[in-house]
Amino acid sequence: MSVALIATGGTIASTSTDGADAEPELDGADLAAAVPQLGDVTELSAHEFSKVPSPQFTLDQMADLVTLIQDLNTNPDVDGIVVTQGTDILEETAYFVDLCYDGATPVAFTGAMRNPSVASPDGPGNLLSSVRTVLDDTAGDPGVLVVFNDRIHAARDVTKMHSMNTDTFRTPEFGPLGVIDEGRVVWMRTPTRSDPTFDIVPEQLTNDIHAVTATAEMPPAQLTIAMASAGLCLAATGAGHVPDSIVPALEDVVGAGVPLVVTTRCPEGRLARATYGFRGSEATLQDLGAFYSDVNLQKTRIRTSVAIAADRLDDAFERP
Ligand code: ASP
Repeated sequence: MSVALIATGGTIASTSTDGADAEPELDGADLAAAVPQLGDVTELSAHEFSKVPSPQFTLDQMADLVTLIQDLNTNPDVDGIVVTQGTDILEETAYFVDLCYDGATPVAFTGAMRNPSVASPDGPGNLLSSVRTVLDDTAGDPGVLVVFNDRIHAARDVTKMHSMNTDTFRTPEFGPLGVIDEGRVVWMRTPTRSDPTFDIVPEQLTNDIHAVTATAEMPPAQLTIAMASAGLCLAATGAGHVPDSIVPALEDVVGAGVPLVVTTRCPEGRLARATYGFRGSEATLQDLGAFYSDVNLQKTRIRTSVAIAADRLDDAFERP
């Protein structure tokens, strides 16, 4: 059984002499060398993709990563693919790949919160558990996974919940898909791929999509700045509500032909469709022709970007 390890940087690949000012310096071979137990489980081939802290990772790099993963999927010697990345935007990259990749070779993302030069780094254990997960043949077709702290999550649902704790990746509302107990992969829910996949035209991929969280009495200028953009993603309060004072700004944005994609700023739950009718409620958003998203704001922006690059905005989101 062989696994392709794609190294992109992040804390898992960062070193420093005193634990501070760590920078991504290690490559995939270094990461593998830190986990001697890998030799009992798989033959690992390392692919050096980048050595960046994840906040520097771009949408173009996400598209390139999809291409590399698709290539590896056609290699009969590759049984599983593990991508290591910084945790900060890992959920966005994993979701981007999930939206674009429908190959049969399992893919898992992982990383670390504690770099290899501090006490008890978590990267080696996360890497080993990820390898075990992609080699597990009982998963069916789960879509892209995120494996962290011995839990397995769907890329679509997982989010980084804690800025520093190693127990940072969680799936709000539904919990993880599975766990790794003593090296044994145990699925607790039937993992299913819930999304269509999108063939993007890389030249049509744009980062010109604004992502804004609605707040009490927010300044409308936060929205009108999106008037000349490719899209506005808005995390509304509660079940899909905004202050009535920003409705004119939303009308201007939509009137300018900019797609408006709305989600909730609540960590759990989805937008209402027919509960409230006040100005600024879900009824207003529907009158504006808003697309409804049921993933968090940062993933809503990824989905919008992918859908635009695939010319399939109407397939990507419902417009109740
Ligand atoms: N703190 C981050 C990490 O966990 C840095 C990054 O995202 O690259 O890797």
